[in-house]
Formats: sequence, C-alpha cells, structure tokens
Amino acid sequence: MSPPASAAARDRLRIAIQKSGRLAEPARALLAACGLSWRESRDRLFCYGETLPVDLLLVRDDDIPGLIADGVCDLGVVGRNVLLEQDGDRRSNGRESAFREWRALGFGGCRLALAVPEAWHWEGPQQLAGKRIATSYPALLSQWLAGEGVDAQVVLLSGSVEIAPRLGQAEAICDLVSSGATLSANQLKPVQTLIESEAVLAGPAGGFDDVRGELADLLLRRLDGALRVRNSKLLMFQAPRNLLDELLPLLPDAEPPTVMSLDNGDGVALQALCHGAVTWQRLEELKRAGARGLMVVPVEGMLA
Ligand code: ATP
Ligand code: ZN
Repeated sequence: MSPPASAAARDRLRIAIQKSGRLAEPARALLAACGLSWRESRDRLFCYGETLPVDLLLVRDDDIPGLIADGVCDLGVVGRNVLLEQDGDRRSNGRESAFREWRALGFGGCRLALAVPEAWHWEGPQQLAGKRIATSYPALLSQWLAGEGVDAQVVLLSGSVEIAPRLGQAEAICDLVSSGATLSANQLKPVQTLIESEAVLAGPAGGFDDVRGELADLLLRRLDGALRVRNSKLLMFQAPRNLLDELLPLLPDAEPPTVMSLDNGDGVALQALCHGAVTWQRLEELKRAGARGLMVVPVEGMLA
C-alpha cells in the first residue's frame, strides 16, 4: 500500500512519526493507546489506519515539521528541539510560522544545553564572546546568543558535536543532553540550558477546516485521556469513617474519591483515582493512619 499521490483526499488524517530512533516506538505506543491500529505496508513507510481514518507516515524526525508545513502530513510526533529549531530557521528567513506544538507528550525528554570544557571556570554567557560554538541547532543558539547580547561564532555540525572541542573545531558546544554521560566522556560540562525538550504532537499553526478537524479533535481528546491515565492509579481501601479526615490528605494528587458505606457499622470502602505516585511509603502512611486492605490498580483508559 502506498500513500495517495496527492494531498487532495482530505477525509483522512495523516500523522508523521519517526521511522526508527528514540521516538519511534513510544510514538506508536501512545497512538495505539488512543485506539488506533494500522495495516502495515510492505515498505513500512505508510501505515493505513484500520480502526479510524488516521494513517501513519514513517519518516526521519527532521522531515516532520516540513511535511506539516507543506501539507503532506497533518500532524507529527517530533522533539520540541527539532520543531523550535526549524521554526526559528523559518522566521529568521522572514517566513511565517507554519507549525506549532499542539501537545507535550511526556517522553523523549532531554534539554538543549551549552557545554564548555570541564577545565573552564564558568562565569556566564559573556565568557563566550569571540569563541566558536559547535551545534546542530544554529537557529536556537543564535537566538539565545542574540538575547544574551553575546557575539560568538556559530559552527554548524550535523553530528558528533561533542568531539568538536577536542578536534579544535570549536571551544564550546550546544547540544542535546539527557544523562550528561556523553558530555563527561568528552571532558565537557553543561553550563546553561537553552530549551527543555520532550516529544510533542505538532500540527499546523492554524487548524483544519474540513473533516480532519473533527478527527483531530477526537484524537486530542483520546490523547489527553491516555496521557492523564499514563501515571494514574486507582487506589482502593477500607477504613473507619471517622478516620477519613486524616486519610484523604494522604491521597497522592487524587480526584474526589468515591466513598461507599459498608454493611458492618461505621466502616467505608473508598476508591480514588490518583495522578501522583502511589509509592510504598505512601501506602504505609495510609496504613498507619488506619486504612486497611489497600489495593493499587492500574488504569487502562479514561474519558473525562
Ligand atoms: P532520524 O534518523 O529520524 O533523523 P535522529 O538520529 O535525528 O533520527 P534520535 O537520536 O532518535 O534522532 O533522537 C530523536 C529525538 O529524541 C531528538 O530530537 C530529541 O528530541 C530526543 N532525545 C531524547 N534524548 C536524547 C538524547 N540524549 N540525545 C539526542 N536526542 C534525544
Ligand atoms: Zn534526525
């Protein structure tokens, strides 16, 4: 199966996700948690939506903002770092924003950071004046430098940015960091965060004025439910009614609980949807405060 040749058929929604890489599997898993399923094509570039008219296009992450701008795809799952860089690039070339972040998705977390040799005593952005900074994010770095009023040279590299100082190509770098292990392996240290990033659902700067608008709304509602449910647990226990005032504040970020009277006197059974972490420690606190028969149940789906 191959995608329709033109973008004229506007009764299906087309979502671009990374073909392989860090965001590929979590993006698929999240969309599957929204009830989508696909028939795979043999070349695995286009997946035809079965349960809903929502198809997938599997591409390189860097292509996703452009595919949305060109109307080839309607939505995409991409790192905020890529989206903001390409938006910055468009605007620095005098073009309007054509895409924007619709939702943060809670995976693929990292930050775009400035890193300098470990031996430097970091005194602030002005220390970069006259220096060369290697990066794959020239628009975001230039914006930040301009904001700080620092005149430094941006050296564009497409990969292996972290070895640029050792190769004598630059004094500092601006790159994605998650654990920081790559930096320290190259005797560099992060000194400044430019952007906190994670995977986002990207869409056009405007909306859709045909049936895709309804499909996108449906998807967003399911996505919000799936994101909310992701860390949520149903907490159930029993307790004497007169202890409720002490127990309720211990529920981690809970929705108003359902409290049911038990047949045997003044006992209640309580269930609460908790969005905060239900840790062992929290369960022990609840038990000390009089809760009995504590049970934590994963939540499969939720529709507000
Ligand atoms: P592609 O072949 O699609 O171009 P890629 O090599 O550019 O893949 P990945 O390395 O898979 O992309 O990273 C995709 C996204 O994952 C990044 O843009 C970023 O948003 C996020 N990410 C999370 N942690 C990190 C990290 N430690 N290093 C790089 N990217 C990270
Ligand atoms: Zn890429």
